[in-house]
Amino acid sequence: MKLSVLASGSRANCIYVGTESAGFLFDAGLSPRQTEKRLRLLGLSRKHIVGMFISHDHEDHARHAGAFAKDWKINVYYGIQERSSILSFPVSHDAIDSVGFRIHEGHQKAVIVLDTGCITPSMAAHMAGANVLVLEANHHREMLRVGPYPWDLKQRILSRTGHLSNDAVAEYVGAELEPSCHTLILAHLSEANNHPSLVRAAVLPMLLGKGLQTMLIVSGPDEPTELIEV
Ligand SMILES: [Zn+2]
Ligand SMILES: [Zn+2]
Repeated sequence: MKLSVLASGSRANCIYVGTESAGFLFDAGLSPRQTEKRLRLLGLSRKHIVGMFISHDHEDHARHAGAFAKDWKINVYYGIQERSSILSFPVSHDAIDSVGFRIHEGHQKAVIVLDTGCITPSMAAHMAGANVLVLEANHHREMLRVGPYPWDLKQRILSRTGHLSNDAVAEYVGAELEPSCHTLILAHLSEANNHPSLVRAAVLPMLLGKGLQTMLIVSGPDEPTELIEV
């Protein structure tokens, strides 16, 4: 099973996970055309995609879901689902039926957690034992506090149903991340309130402090990550 974050950020999110026989997309932030282009960069065809799962109905995740259903004629699934090797679970975010995903293939396990204000114990239980973890690292708290956003939006982002900060990710990595996780892909960085160097500076010491060999990748809006073997 292989995984690539095709796009992530405040504007558009889309993740590919697939095996030799079938591929799935998680979130529809990119247009079908742009998604096809990025799949092609990875040597994948759109004909390989058999279904799509949506984490929640905010625009940067669900904008093009209808177009995929119509143009690619694939099934699009929302909310809590359990379909063969893919299981979704609730996360803590201010949209109806916000979910994360667990994808299993043999002994391999990938977990995707995007928009969430915190990591609840039940989420941590779903995330445990992941070989590849895609996790939101939305903002640097201080950068958000002094940044240009209006006060109520800042409060929303910082709340338990908002978005995950670099510090929250670092805390999770320090307390919970297991050696089974060979690749940690950070996602959904805010362009206004974060920077790849800041999130690396927060998370790397936690990995090193635990003696973990986990590879750290920071995904972005403009190009897909490499295709990772889970
Ligand atoms: Zn959201
Ligand atoms: Zn989002």
